[in-house]
Amino acid sequence: MKTREEINTYHREWCRKNKDRCREYNRSWRLKIRVMGRTVPSRVGDGHVLPGALRLQALRWKKKLRVVELLGGKCAKCGIVDPRLLQINHINGGGTAEYKRLGHYKLTATILNGARSIEDLNLLCANCNLLYEFERGARYCEIETLTGSRDTEKGT
Ligand SMILES: [Zn+2]
Repeated sequence: MKTREEINTYHREWCRKNKDRCREYNRSWRLKIRVMGRTVPSRVGDGHVLPGALRLQALRWKKKLRVVELLGGKCAKCGIVDPRLLQINHINGGGTAEYKRLGHYKLTATILNGARSIEDLNLLCANCNLLYEFERGARYCEIETLTGSRDTEKGT
């Protein structure tokens, strides 16, 4: 199975080789989406946007909201309920590896169809998730250097 990154690279490469067809394809998508009452930026980030990106985004959010609901709908630490801030957290770590292996689409799909247990998952908001990564040592911050507490301890 190809990873999301490989698919993106392939797509980018294909567009580089078939500029006219790619342009035509993007244009027809933009027209369709404009008909649906929305406009789509033609270029984003590194100058590339997948055709129908807006539709994919909407689909992703739809699925994410269902997962959020399934996992309790609020941050397990601070209780914030804004779904834009909520992230699926792997309580025992290994989340990045699973995302890399499955990708967002498959991960949410397996959660929603019950193929993946949700016992080791919870919801954390972006801030609490970041703090949690520091706490379990996935990120490291030498707080003593920032606060100077180590020097103070030595001095006393
Ligand atoms: Zn939180």
